[in-house]
Amino acid sequence: MTNTRKPFFAGNWKMNGTKNSITELKKLKESEVVLGKDYDVIVCPPSTLLSDAKKAVENSKIVIGAQDCHFEKEGAFTGEISAEMLLDSGAEIVILGHSERRSYANESNETIRKKVDTAIMSGLKVILCIGETETERNQQLTQSVINKQILGCMPSNASYSNIVLAYEPVWAIGTGRTALPKEIEKIHFNIRKFLKEEFNEKLSQEIRIVYGGSVKPINAIEILELQNVDGALVGGASLKAEDFNDIIKSL
Ligand code: PEP
Repeated sequence: MTNTRKPFFAGNWKMNGTKNSITELKKLKESEVVLGKDYDVIVCPPSTLLSDAKKAVENSKIVIGAQDCHFEKEGAFTGEISAEMLLDSGAEIVILGHSERRSYANESNETIRKKVDTAIMSGLKVILCIGETETERNQQLTQSVINKQILGCMPSNASYSNIVLAYEPVWAIGTGRTALPKEIEKIHFNIRKFLKEEFNEKLSQEIRIVYGGSVKPINAIEILELQNVDGALVGGASLKAEDFNDIIKSL
């Protein structure tokens, strides 16, 4: 990474973790990387652990995030969680548009946009996920799918301080496969170009664009050194403090 944007690392625990897992957060808190350098480090445990997680990271730079929220502020939506509830439980940021939610919960760009608006209006920051499926990639639709997701999901008031974009090729999530560094750089570069055309130059230069998709300690260096990659969204490898820490340390 050869730019001035503040590095951003987020761990997505997905549907993993019980109270015992808080020990991993404590280990992360004790690590030199978190205490010593100026990175944004976020951990997104399941909602059931938000309050405990928040307590565990007190007096550290680690920020607690959530994995989804509803687009309505409140009401008769059994099983759902609102942005305000997340804030109340200690989350400061929320992942929206993750490909698993796009596929398992059939979330459209339109739904995601509504969630983004509600989250930002409520005071949460957003990690907005975009990325193509393997079929779309094979049909050379990567850039057009991503552009459509950006146009569909990004609010007009998007800024450095309320959104981080996560480019996550769907075929690379949880599969052990990663896009080639050359491909990643090209896509991140094109995302900035598109943001300049559709939004403005300031946003295109300032916004953090992180890569996600099977980032591990073993492949982190070659991804994080890319000019237009500002950090990583890490799934599986964020469950162990040591692995997540090793990824952050690769920068
Ligand atoms: C993710 O869930 O956003 C992700 C990138 O997962 P993994 O690192 O396990 O591929």
